[in-house]
Amino acid sequence: MNLTTKTLAELSDLFQSGKVSSREITEAFLAEIKAQDNQINSFVTLTEDLAREMADSSDSRRKNNTLLSPLDGIPITLKDVICTKGIKTTAGSNILKNFIPPYDATVWQKLKDAGVVLLGKTNTDEFTMGSSTETSNIGVTKNPHDLTRVPGGSSGGSTASIAANFCAGTLGTDTGGSIRQPAHFCGVTGLKVSYGRVSRFGTMPMASSLDTVGPIAKTAEDCAMILSVIAGIDPKDSTTVDKEVPNYREEIKKDISELKIGLPKEYFIDGIESDILESIEATKAILKELGAKFVEISLPHTEYAVPTYYIVAPSEISANLARFDGIRFGEGREGKDLNEIYSKTRNQGFGDEVKRRILIGTYCLSSGYYDAFYRKAQKVRTLIKDDFTKAFEEVDAILTPVAPTTAFKIGSISDPIRMYLQDIFTIPSSLAGICGISVPVGTSEENLPIGAQILGPAFKEEVVLRIAHNIEQNIAKDK
Ligand code: GLN
Repeated sequence: MNLTTKTLAELSDLFQSGKVSSREITEAFLAEIKAQDNQINSFVTLTEDLAREMADSSDSRRKNNTLLSPLDGIPITLKDVICTKGIKTTAGSNILKNFIPPYDATVWQKLKDAGVVLLGKTNTDEFTMGSSTETSNIGVTKNPHDLTRVPGGSSGGSTASIAANFCAGTLGTDTGGSIRQPAHFCGVTGLKVSYGRVSRFGTMPMASSLDTVGPIAKTAEDCAMILSVIAGIDPKDSTTVDKEVPNYREEIKKDISELKIGLPKEYFIDGIESDILESIEATKAILKELGAKFVEISLPHTEYAVPTYYIVAPSEISANLARFDGIRFGEGREGKDLNEIYSKTRNQGFGDEVKRRILIGTYCLSSGYYDAFYRKAQKVRTLIKDDFTKAFEEVDAILTPVAPTTAFKIGSISDPIRMYLQDIFTIPSSLAGICGISVPVGTSEENLPIGAQILGPAFKEEVVLRIAHNIEQNIAKDK
């Protein structure tokens, strides 16, 4: 039996019923990683010994009937911005290349309490800034579907680790598209949660008013199982909201016949690859057959989302990354005085993309420019958010492409603005703080995966997961 190609839900059933041990599942994934990851480069750190230890503990719990959750014994990976006590966490940056956190992120603590097995930490664009993993200090991760192409980013190491059958589930972060776009490029399912649904405590911040942590896996059901463990209020993160956590795995099994889905006209524009548009059309047909109704809607401020994001995000980045001064945080460099220590540390520690954003952000926040840039961007952000609020008065969810292209060739996009436009369809919902999922719906002529994005109102993860689950079930039936 090939264990590594199974879904998390299938592995959970096999383990809980005693048909396979966690150690067997773990060894199967480790063997796959050893055979393939020298090509793919999805891991920054492999935690092989810890994984075996955790798997053996799960196996003893199973024997003693003291299993902790449906995730007990399941091997996972974590994006390398999620702090793991005693295990290197680098954010893909030279400034943290030897950083060992003294504490755990809440999401990791919750997963540990649920009994998961950690296989390692996955590659990311530096401090999650990018759409390809090319800004990582350990170099690019390759797309498992085509090794000459990027896996997307910034959670590209995580999505590749699912696509390459290196683990059953993983966590990524999404600030402007970093879970959804790489999920689309790698042919896996990735959920961007609503702002406040999942704790960010111990996850390295990029832009604090936008950052979210969410699950990536082979299916929506697998994402639902992980979300049930990590969601909820956290006293250590004051932005988390005290809202009941539904039983997502049950919720997604409901049918979708009463749902009304919007197609925003601003998301079906020139420049989108035709294979992507065809896959979205086919997805619409599947959902229609299941009883969903479709209407055209308008999100009129969509065109302002990317420029708004590239003021708000760099501003917050410049503030968040100020702490890396070589004294409090970050690997310090020698210097004759404080200024030289700061400048050498930051000059040598940060890569070009991070520096570019710190410069833009510092400029936008500086006195005299703050009103013209940051404050104005925040006002436009409110208009974008209002667009969604209005749309959700009419529809339950919104169907769109995830990105204008499929996975591009490594090194093929050198202009930052072109790279920023990768997130044209994911950024508006990030600014609005709502939830969205990227679910595989097809392949291109070149055999590259294509995802569809389903957006839902804030704290309605169960709705987007349910639609994604229904798509997956019915696409599989067609095959
Ligand atoms: N690609 C986007 C950026 O570079 C989004 C990144 C993210 O979501 N972390 O900012």
